[in-house]
Amino acid sequence: MLTIAVSKGRIYEDALPLLEEAGITPIDDPKKSRKLILRTSRDDVQLVIIRATDVPTFVEYGAADMGIAGKDVLLEHGAENLYEPLDLGIAACRLMTATPVDAAELSGRIRVATKYVKTAQRYFADIGVQAEIIKLYGSMELAPLVGLADCIVDLVDTGNTLKANGLEARELITHITSRLVVNKAAMKMKHQAIQSLLDQFEITLAKR
Ligand code: AMP
Repeated sequence: MLTIAVSKGRIYEDALPLLEEAGITPIDDPKKSRKLILRTSRDDVQLVIIRATDVPTFVEYGAADMGIAGKDVLLEHGAENLYEPLDLGIAACRLMTATPVDAAELSGRIRVATKYVKTAQRYFADIGVQAEIIKLYGSMELAPLVGLADCIVDLVDTGNTLKANGLEARELITHITSRLVVNKAAMKMKHQAIQSLLDQFEITLAKR
């Protein structure tokens, strides 16, 4: 059995056509079902539906052989026991800093609200800005509006969420897409099954 970890939402929606081209069609729809393990049209493949931030953990420990995870999550988590053989190019967005539209240029020691604590720490250290990072789990956009932080670090796609809250994107930290990750031991033990899936994904991606 090959177990693939995927998160609900945008990554799942974007991954579905890729999986289907590889002959993997989930039998249940995670939007309608509360099942966390989805059987698929292939007897030898199952999906586990978990939080995006948990995908590297499941794959690292071998609880899933493979997973689909955003580069944002992989950068933040670190990837010790994982291979990252394929950029799937899906769920594309940007990791950016953002401030209120009328904010003055940031200077001195700044406060930054984000769920990407390590990535933000690395970024501000690299550009030589002293930053106090405040960990939040959601609604980052609120932080500058209520004086919790000068700036946020978050994913930006259309920019509509920032705009709706009077914020604007400033500096690009990195472009983000979802990656296929594979447990290192599974890559050896289940080489044939995993390699043929990788090949299939590559063929599908090359046609896009
Ligand atoms: P947008 O309003 O289109 O700029 O989208 C921004 C919101 O969607 C933020 O709350 C982001 O955290 C989230 N978001 C955007 N793109 C992605 C993605 N590829 N994966 C996960 N969350 C995303």
